[in-house]
Amino acid sequence: MRILIKGGTVLSTTGVAEADVLVDGETIAAVAAPGVLEQADTVLDATGRYVLPGGIDAHTHMEMPFGGTFSADTFETGTRAAAWGGTTTVIDFAVQAKGTSLMSTLDKWHEKADGDCAIDYGFHMIVSDVNDATLKEMESCVDAGVSSFKMFMAYPGVFYSTDGEILRAMQKATDTGSMIMMHAENGIAIDQLVAQALAEGRGEPVQHGLTRPPELEGEATSRAITLAKVTGAPLYIVHLSAAQALAAVAGARNEGQNVFAETCPQYLYLSIEDLAKPDFEGAKYVASPPLRPKEHQRDLWRGLRTNDLSVVSTDHCPFCFKDQKELGRGDFAKIPNGMPGVEHRMDLLHQGVVAGEISLARWVETCSTTPARMFGLYPRKGVIAPGSDADIVLYDPAAEQTISARTHHMAVDYSAYEGMRITGTVTTVLSRGRIIVDGGEYHGSAGHGRFLTRDLCQYLN
Ligand SMILES: [Zn+2]
Repeated sequence: MRILIKGGTVLSTTGVAEADVLVDGETIAAVAAPGVLEQADTVLDATGRYVLPGGIDAHTHMEMPFGGTFSADTFETGTRAAAWGGTTTVIDFAVQAKGTSLMSTLDKWHEKADGDCAIDYGFHMIVSDVNDATLKEMESCVDAGVSSFKMFMAYPGVFYSTDGEILRAMQKATDTGSMIMMHAENGIAIDQLVAQALAEGRGEPVQHGLTRPPELEGEATSRAITLAKVTGAPLYIVHLSAAQALAAVAGARNEGQNVFAETCPQYLYLSIEDLAKPDFEGAKYVASPPLRPKEHQRDLWRGLRTNDLSVVSTDHCPFCFKDQKELGRGDFAKIPNGMPGVEHRMDLLHQGVVAGEISLARWVETCSTTPARMFGLYPRKGVIAPGSDADIVLYDPAAEQTISARTHHMAVDYSAYEGMRITGTVTTVLSRGRIIVDGGEYHGSAGHGRFLTRDLCQYLN
């Protein structure tokens, strides 16, 4: 089966080119000047559209256990919603529970995802129980294609690791060439602020933001960078939200340290004012780190331009407002942490192009090419080039759409961007050569998506 994508504007990290793309089976066979390629079974007219490598969302949490409930999207619903939004690969997190092994955790997550995904997927491993056995198992994870390990400086008693535990895991990451991903917030200090707020009767959602000040993200980020420097480990700061944390990352990068960071659309577009919405509405915006005062957004956009922020992921971790977010009425500490977003990352960052914040090349780079390289998937993913997987998005940059829970495909009962007007929309999506979204119709299927064994990070000095 050969598909010719004709008349479009092909996007890459170096800019734009008028070109036709020939897909043969699951991979891209050729990219050529318009009109050169002719033979195909199907022709997709891409006139007036961008043709870009499918989005890679390197931070999602499908059916993740949290505080006695599970995030609302399964691998089936979550990857289908991702496909609708032009994302053709997700990297999700397997979560080690205390007292269990990494390999049994990985088996469990394979069981959850196998046969359910609409698009290709990989796993990172959350390490929450550092001991000799776990450290040894990090080697087996790398061999099994899971080359990145997430740790937490937040959530004492749940995922939290001490500095000593982090140091030991980083030493193992250095030995294996793997990446440590860090949730950098000072959870010990935060827990005191949370307890004080609750003791004083301040239980509303905005307190979630006020008890997690940006300085405590900046401090934890600096500490993680120091531990990475001492051990020589590559470090990737997840969901960076605060100017203070960005400054720490920029400083380390200027010194040549292997430190990278991602941010998420919610930190670019939403703020603590959303958390302060009345009648418990703010609960919809509870995620950690919290939404920040608006002035941080300007710094984050700048970080995306300067590459101090290399990647945009979603931290997609949806909980329904009804019955799930509501667990925390009167006690913000009981609101499940997380927001939906996997479907709208490509659109929201294209909106950044429309607004003049980033270039088209940077859109593709932060949302597809860099995540592929960062997590050992390039050039199979993240680029339109001969031999690469035919994960391709056709995007109409002039179309108008309005984001709403009534029309989105995520299994969650609200949208964090309800009513937001977006210029641009996905029109067609190919996953490994199969047309899975086209003209407002879904043609994908659960189980089409395959597990991706990942190599090591391709950016290390
Ligand atoms: Zn996360």
